Amino acid sequence: MLDLDKRSITYLPGVGPKKAEVLQKEAGIASYEDLLFYFPYKYIDRSRFYKVAEINGDMPYIQLRGKILYFDTFGEGRSKRLVGKFTDGTGTIDLVWFKGLNYITDKIKPGLEYIVFGKPSEFGHIYNIPHPDIDPIDQVNQVAGGLTPFYNTTEKMKKSFLNSRAIQNLQYSLLNWLNWDLPETLSPDILKRIKMMPLKEAMRNIHFPESAEKLKQAQLRLKFEEFFFIQLNILRTANVRKLKLKGIVFPTVGHYFNTFYKDYLPFELTGAQKRVVREIRTDVGSGRQMNRLLQGDVGSGKTLVGLLAMLLAIDNNCQACMMAPTEILATQHYVTIMEFLKDLDVKVALLTGSTRKKDRNKILPAIANGEIQIVIGTHALIEETVVFSSLGLAIIDEQHRFGVAQRSRLWTKNTVVPHVLVMTATPIPRTLAMTLYGDLDVSVIDELPPGRKPIKTVHRYDNKKAQLYEFLRNQIELGRQVYVVFPLIEGSEKLDYKNLEDGFETFKEVFPEYKVCMVHGRMKAADKETEMQKFVSGEAQILMATTVIEVGVNVPNASVMVIESAERFGLSQLHQLRGRVGRGAEQSYCILVSSYKLTNETRKRLEIMVNSSDGFEIAEADLKLRGHGDLEGTRQSGEGIDLKIADLAADGQILQYARDIALGILDEDPELLSDTHRILNERLKILFSRKTNWGMIS
Ligand code: ADP
Ligand code: MG
Repeated sequence: MLDLDKRSITYLPGVGPKKAEVLQKEAGIASYEDLLFYFPYKYIDRSRFYKVAEINGDMPYIQLRGKILYFDTFGEGRSKRLVGKFTDGTGTIDLVWFKGLNYITDKIKPGLEYIVFGKPSEFGHIYNIPHPDIDPIDQVNQVAGGLTPFYNTTEKMKKSFLNSRAIQNLQYSLLNWLNWDLPETLSPDILKRIKMMPLKEAMRNIHFPESAEKLKQAQLRLKFEEFFFIQLNILRTANVRKLKLKGIVFPTVGHYFNTFYKDYLPFELTGAQKRVVREIRTDVGSGRQMNRLLQGDVGSGKTLVGLLAMLLAIDNNCQACMMAPTEILATQHYVTIMEFLKDLDVKVALLTGSTRKKDRNKILPAIANGEIQIVIGTHALIEETVVFSSLGLAIIDEQHRFGVAQRSRLWTKNTVVPHVLVMTATPIPRTLAMTLYGDLDVSVIDELPPGRKPIKTVHRYDNKKAQLYEFLRNQIELGRQVYVVFPLIEGSEKLDYKNLEDGFETFKEVFPEYKVCMVHGRMKAADKETEMQKFVSGEAQILMATTVIEVGVNVPNASVMVIESAERFGLSQLHQLRGRVGRGAEQSYCILVSSYKLTNETRKRLEIMVNSSDGFEIAEADLKLRGHGDLEGTRQSGEGIDLKIADLAADGQILQYARDIALGILDEDPELLSDTHRILNERLKILFSRKTNWGMIS
């Protein structure tokens, strides 16, 4: 065994302790394996040489061959720069360096022939090439061989002379050390089925492509491999759980469920709600532990479904809890559920960070002795002091705000793992769901309660404020309420808060006859509550807020959503915000206000919002526009998936294929114990053992 994952990068020639540290910190490269799997993010064709005379405005990276006539330095201290006057006989161009000047003048001699590679830039109608790669002409075969890989590097890496070229050199010496050979990671039966390149060939071609065609095949193989092991891991874990984890059985649909359903349900469930309730009932009656993700667009009525599931739990002498990401939300759930249950004798408690000590001292023992049947709360629910007598069902609302680790803490609260229902209004594109939650069963509420009118969405520029105010005044006169949301983005909080406060002042001046209130994250919970309450009760007509109202808040009479600086929000977030209106019988509006200057991408984003009201469609579009790295629900909760080569937006088919192959393998050999599949087992250990195995508990 080569144990490439255990061989420290420090052993590689050319990597001293200092470089090793930078590689690890900046690029996560600690082992030989990490280096091999550090793939180029693009390739540039270096088979062609350009002439200086050909250089014009808009050019990609180009390659020249010629001589430096002389060096000159300009400026002093930090702004000192080195200029090499370069010619190939067709003209001259300046090569410019701002850093490492001595290194260049030591290495590069005027009069000798070199290959120069870089991106021309224009400065006052004169072209130059800043920080080009420069190599002696005798290395032409090595550096100008065709497709040249580009590796991501950071400023710190570059300072330690670890630029893209240096990474390429490291790859070269590593592959050389391996004799350009590499042990296979897939089993022979899979290789035979998928008919893709062997790993060693893929690895050679991803770092040193022989041709565009070979490169494509290498990418395919490595993308497949990446998806395949993720799927194999998730599906195997899910299998094991299904086999080994006993679920609490809820055999009866009893008094609470039936009475509520028959006598107190204020409206008929939608077909989709009924279907999901049936799915949940099947799960909790099966003897398996339920792990279900419930997706439903904002306003589709997930809370009620959650409540029905909780009633099932207490019908079977178990407790149930519902955890929400913010106090406002938890409180709103509590109020909603208390209202639903007002004629039923169910003991419900609310537990949040601001629950008073006096109350907490009463609630905690009552949870521990089972007297309290339903607990609604925030993170406070997962504190160690909260002990349940018999937790049978844990519901997590708005999943994406919670990390896996937090979720898992809930399940440790019982000796038997409770059933878990995760509810989210952030529609997760299929590919992402398969990667992140491939082990969860998924239910979808794809139908809104009847009588909802589609929300009218428009895009307006912020230099037309007067018309906007007039429209809002008309709506308020009709008895409606208005949300006005401002962005709050990491890094610009100060300015963002100022914008909100300025907006608040302006609105108070523009609408002196109405009450305007304001909510934001810097307020004390109690103040937030009071302000929010003014809006919920109808006392205030306009609520101005940062995105705290993004999730879950429900005020059916609010029918206008104004989003300021809409260009600064992500698509999913815009959709979430829009979902705050359109809950009553009135026509609702969403007004996206942006500056006139927009990039193409933001313009497209706003267009999608205006044209579509389908959460899934929007989530897919978001994924395509932004890539999965930024997608809400991954980064926020700290469980962003680190894909090294595959792309969730573009490679959905490969993902599906990899999943099918993984399913087939597990079908034959659920725990991968056969001789043939031992290799897969080994690989899973290498890939996933470093991370805690949350799969068992989430
Ligand atoms: P979300 O899925 O966004 O959490 P909620 O559970 O907050 O949605 O429901 C939105 C609103 O729709 C609530 O006022 C709720 O009472 C109402 N609602 C839920 N189900 C139905 C239904 N079947 N018919 C009519 N209204 C419903
Ligand atoms: Mg909700």
